Amino acid sequence: MNIDAVIFDWGGTLTPWHDVDLNERWLAYAHVYAPDRAEELAAQLHHGEQSRWAHQFDTAGETGTGALEAMFEECGIDTSSAIHFQALNSYLSAWDPNTYTDEDAIPLLKTLRGMGIKTAVLSNTMWPRRHHESVLERDGVLHLFDYLLFTSETTSAKPHRSVFTDVSYNLGVVPEHCAFVGDRLFDDIHGAQEVGMKGIWIPHSNIPASQSTDLGITPAATVQRLGEVLDVVSAWNTLQTWNESDK
Ligand SMILES: [Mg+2]
Repeated sequence: MNIDAVIFDWGGTLTPWHDVDLNERWLAYAHVYAPDRAEELAAQLHHGEQSRWAHQFDTAGETGTGALEAMFEECGIDTSSAIHFQALNSYLSAWDPNTYTDEDAIPLLKTLRGMGIKTAVLSNTMWPRRHHESVLERDGVLHLFDYLLFTSETTSAKPHRSVFTDVSYNLGVVPEHCAFVGDRLFDDIHGAQEVGMKGIWIPHSNIPASQSTDLGITPAATVQRLGEVLDVVSAWNTLQTWNESDK
């Protein structure tokens, strides 16, 4: 099968996995928004976030991740206040050290595009698009993607088929001609392969037990680092060329 598009997960795939103390990240928000009850608010936000991830996982993506705004409002936060925006910046900045793009990404993306292959990002995330785009721009990769889909803007999330077909449709490439690169067997590989994409797994992330499953999922390929995606896609496309020349 010829691969005409490669779609990437973001966390743990385009950006290497980091084990992070999520409550500490929410403290960065809470210390700005409500310094007098920071611990309590951070715990509330942390719980809200975990509940959303668990619900998204339990419904196999049918219930999406939603956006952070909805969660803030559930926690009684005034999302139109100046102090909220200040606190949100503090929260997102606390993540900065863990958002750097893998050093293999630029050469990989440039080479794929040079081969006429389209590229995209499909990320399960509650973060706003503007933040994701600013991170990708900081690292000089934003312009190397044809399409970006963040589930903070959709009603469902990976592994639900709708988000995979959305990306495929917007790239103008049928799912059977797309490869999907991800670190989660269920959300990424199973989801992509259910719509006919070829899953390429990067198995280095510590996926929480509550967000993983053993369904006997077999990726089409497994790579040990991001740059090796090029070898896999090149081999598949070369094989296709050989098969065509046989006919
Ligand atoms: Mg991931």
